[in-house]
Amino acid sequence: MQSISYTRATTPEAALAAFSNAGEGARFIAGGTTLYDLMKLGIETPAHIIDVSDIDGFDAIETEGDTLRIGAMARMADVAAHPVIRDEYPVLAESLLKAASQQLRNMATVGGNLLQRTRCIYFRNGAGGISPCNKREPGSGCAAIGGLDRGQALFGASNVCTAVFPGDWPIALLALGAAVDVLGPNGHRTIPVAELYRLPGDTPHIEFSLTSDEIVTAITVPKRPARRSTYHKIRDRESYAFALVSAAVVLEMQGNNVRQARIALGGVASIPWRATEAETALIGHPLTRARALAAGQAAFANARPGQHNAFKLTLGPEVIADALMIAAQRNA
Ligand SMILES: Cc1cc2nc3c(=O)[nH]c(=O)nc-3n(C[C@H](O)[C@H](O)[C@H](O)COP(=O)(O)OP(=O)(O)OC[C@H]3O[C@@H](n4cnc5c(N)ncnc54)[C@H](O)[C@@H]3O)c2cc1C
Ligand code: SF4
Repeated sequence: MQSISYTRATTPEAALAAFSNAGEGARFIAGGTTLYDLMKLGIETPAHIIDVSDIDGFDAIETEGDTLRIGAMARMADVAAHPVIRDEYPVLAESLLKAASQQLRNMATVGGNLLQRTRCIYFRNGAGGISPCNKREPGSGCAAIGGLDRGQALFGASNVCTAVFPGDWPIALLALGAAVDVLGPNGHRTIPVAELYRLPGDTPHIEFSLTSDEIVTAITVPKRPARRSTYHKIRDRESYAFALVSAAVVLEMQGNNVRQARIALGGVASIPWRATEAETALIGHPLTRARALAAGQAAFANARPGQHNAFKLTLGPEVIADALMIAAQRNA
């Protein structure tokens, strides 16, 4: 049995110092709902765990000024229930409420949610050499290619990894143009959510553009009119399941015409995916169901399905169209 040391940090400086002292094999942990899971599966094998969930003040939600600032250690349930987020940013609240279960949301943090790893069945079930996986063990191969690919990516995949990013909250954050504040040994930096995730390319094991010794301290969302927004998620059952296809939509209307549309997709790509073709197809036009569906079809025009996931070419445009119509009916 591998022994694991555990340090609970109450300041960011203490967390960084503990990480640096621990050396190889150190990992930060927040709610633990993903990391402990992966440890039980033998996929993650940290020797040192540095708990950042108790760092003072890093769970605050600040709504003053021109930026909404959400502490990375805030729990998913608390963020979803915050009055400003619930009333002004339905896309954010819904992306959290449609993720996981109430028990998980009570424990899991919004920072940890950003950094969850893929649910590719071969990645999760193959530790111990049962199925090759380039993300788990670089250079070992990919069991999903030529295997069961119902859950695999239609956008952004490479010829060594077709895994889908599974989360919901980052899709909503991408649609809103959010960024993450990060603290590491070299100080602070800010990473747009659009740049936080790396396409698999030849190195699918390198998933994020922050390094393992950096802590996400907060998520910042530029304030923009977002009451006309929604997170629409279709899954195999209506709760407690990851997205087959999801769409985060933020709409600005001018009369009946679309002034601005921001659309991001989940469940279909290697990273949270911005549907710019759909956005372009809408701007300046009245929003009818037919135009919304055409915009959805534009988003999937360049999709590359595998053997078992081509049904998303039909489902995906419908999800985008429904999301647009839901958002449009909301009061600005
Ligand atoms: C059964 C089940 C169903 C789920 N369904 C969904 C779903 O439908 N949609 C969805 O979006 N998610 C779903 N999830 C995932 C869940 O939302 C995540 O497990 C959770 O948000 C992770 O947060 P955490 O605080 O527990 O992270 P942890 O498990 O503590 O950490 C996750 C990762 O982030 C790193 N980390 C955590 N916090 C920080 C930080 N502040 N700075 C730097 N690194 C950090 C850790 O090192 C680790 O690698 C599900 C999970 C389970 C177990
Ligand atoms: S798709 Fe990616 S995560 Fe899944 S088995 Fe292949 S390399 Fe691993």
